[in-house]
Amino acid sequence: MSKPTEADSAYLHSLMIMHDATMPTEEKAKRLLGIYKQSNRLAYLVFEYLFRTKPHLAWENFDSSKSHLLVDVLWQVQKKDLDLDIIAKNGYLRELYTARGDVDLVTNSTIFEFDVLIHLKNKANATLAFEYICNDCKQIFPFGFNRCSNCHALESSIVEFSLTKDYHRDFSEENNSFQ
Ligand SMILES: [Zn+2]
Repeated sequence: MSKPTEADSAYLHSLMIMHDATMPTEEKAKRLLGIYKQSNRLAYLVFEYLFRTKPHLAWENFDSSKSHLLVDVLWQVQKKDLDLDIIAKNGYLRELYTARGDVDLVTNSTIFEFDVLIHLKNKANATLAFEYICNDCKQIFPFGFNRCSNCHALESSIVEFSLTKDYHRDFSEENNSFQ
């Protein structure tokens, strides 16, 4: 077996940290950030974890040049965890969160899906659906990944999105009508 590359070892080290049942979340978040900063790799793995568990740390260390790579993660950040100062300062984030309906900071977007949602202004049951394509073997997955389960390439995931009906919103509005 060949020697693991630097990318392999950063990835394996990150997995060990994430799956360590005895390490507190705060410590995991700090160590993952350390690996990310040192290796300049694994942005998706590290920030997906941070936005889910320690959103303030995620924003504090957020590199807006990675916004496209993390669009699905950003789309799923809970409204209470948004950092409005950071969002206001970045063009992509202003468009993304205006499209999601959290802020009203732009009137259009060069990204078609964002532009449609901005113009709908939450008046239709529409949202984004994501899929993930391996840049090496071109296999499509319904979930994000750090290592492709088909060809085993690391960090080969490209996220793409399209407009879709918002089933969750249908469901919550139906529930509200019974109150
Ligand atoms: Zn692949």
